[in-house]
Amino acid sequence: MPASSDTLNSSDNVQVDITIIGGGIAGLWLLHRLCKLGYNAILLESKALGSDQSVASQGMIHGGIKYSLSGLLTGASEAIADMPGYWRKCLQGEGEIDLRGCKLLSDHFYLWSSASTTSRLTTFFASKATRGRVDKVSGKQLPPLLQASEFSGSVYKLVDMVLDVPSLVRQLAEPLRSRIFQIDWQTAKFQGQPDTGHAIEIVSGAQTLRLNSAAIVLTAGQGNGALLKQLGASSPAMQTRPLQQVLVKHRHPHAFFGHCLGAETTPRVTISSHACDDGSQVWYLGGSLAEKGAGQSSNELILCAKRELSELLPWVDLSEAQWATLAVERAEPLQRNFARPDQAYADWAGNCQNVIAAWPTKLTLAPNLATQIVDLLAKKGIKPRYSSPLKLPLKTPKVAPPPWQTLFGDD
Ligand SMILES: Cc1cc2nc3c(=O)[nH]c(=O)nc-3n(C[C@H](O)[C@H](O)[C@H](O)COP(=O)(O)OP(=O)(O)OC[C@H]3O[C@@H](n4cnc5c(N)ncnc54)[C@H](O)[C@@H]3O)c2cc1C
Repeated sequence: MPASSDTLNSSDNVQVDITIIGGGIAGLWLLHRLCKLGYNAILLESKALGSDQSVASQGMIHGGIKYSLSGLLTGASEAIADMPGYWRKCLQGEGEIDLRGCKLLSDHFYLWSSASTTSRLTTFFASKATRGRVDKVSGKQLPPLLQASEFSGSVYKLVDMVLDVPSLVRQLAEPLRSRIFQIDWQTAKFQGQPDTGHAIEIVSGAQTLRLNSAAIVLTAGQGNGALLKQLGASSPAMQTRPLQQVLVKHRHPHAFFGHCLGAETTPRVTISSHACDDGSQVWYLGGSLAEKGAGQSSNELILCAKRELSELLPWVDLSEAQWATLAVERAEPLQRNFARPDQAYADWAGNCQNVIAAWPTKLTLAPNLATQIVDLLAKKGIKPRYSSPLKLPLKTPKVAPPPWQTLFGDD
């Protein structure tokens, strides 16, 4: 008989329906969905919630327009097209999860091209592919950053929006705090065999808990690779794509959220803006700059970023700005030719009875990922079974601070 949490003995079997490993956007969103469906689910996090990718992301909830620049809309980009609307409902408290406490940084996103690439953009936006999801803006409608007389090029406003991800992580974690636990893998391990299913053994002080679950879901981002290895799983394989983001901390008055398009289909630079506690702001730079910069030293990349911004925004004085870079990896299921996946991925791990491995591939697609996992559980006949809440003798993890707060010291 599994123990109820109030009566744990020194060596106890604890039973839950689902154990989620990894508390980024994917694990937290899934925890909400499962609890809503009546599953007794818990989440185990080894560092701070949102570490690695989620809190380091640019927070864009996008409709996939930038992915369709390279050609026709695929089925996957059709699916992502609905995501801004879906998230907007959640932010208004009318969606699947109540995100009214999450901070919206911007309810739009711009796509801007320098004069030399304008004709390609104009042709693309005139096509039916974008179906009214973009508006051309000019004059007074331009974002304040681009209202300078020196600016030439065209600007489109997308329905995409930008969230403050630390507030999103807090908003998702807070209502389910009692189900979220810190795990230390020095004192915990998987037990079991591929054919019998796995459990997790956790030593906590004098207690040894054996945590049994109908399914263990791995949503540990990059950590999934090592977890799958420990479990002896034969599939899926993971790929990581390294990036090096650039952070510019300055006192220029204007925030900006947008992609600058160059000659390639990946935006030349993607800028999001994040307020700091001391009244300054950080422009967080991604896109091609961060992809190509992954192999550069931090100083080399900062030089490239300075050149790029002075070419694109010569009227902005960043001479007093502070610069930093952040090396980070995107974790995804392995794709042919190392391509970027455009859909969320979840499936049963090969050679394991009760383990699902999952990557949302984008923050935007965390809701789709949760739906895929709910479907996998339903297809295997895994239903909510254990209703008693759990009080495990484990701590609650904190929320990871974002890089614009940690990389500039106490200046
Ligand atoms: C620089 C950057 C910018 C991005 N910008 C955007 C964007 O604007 N829009 C968008 O849609 N997507 C964006 N993405 C992609 C998006 O951030 C990721 O797809 C998403 O955050 C992945 O979420 P996750 O929960 O799967 O993983 P993560 O956010 O990486 O979370 C994994 C969690 O698991 C924990 N963990 C790891 N190993 C273990 C373990 N062994 N045991 C327990 N816990 C463990 C980690 O500590 C972490 O909390 C961006 C990604 C990057 C890197």
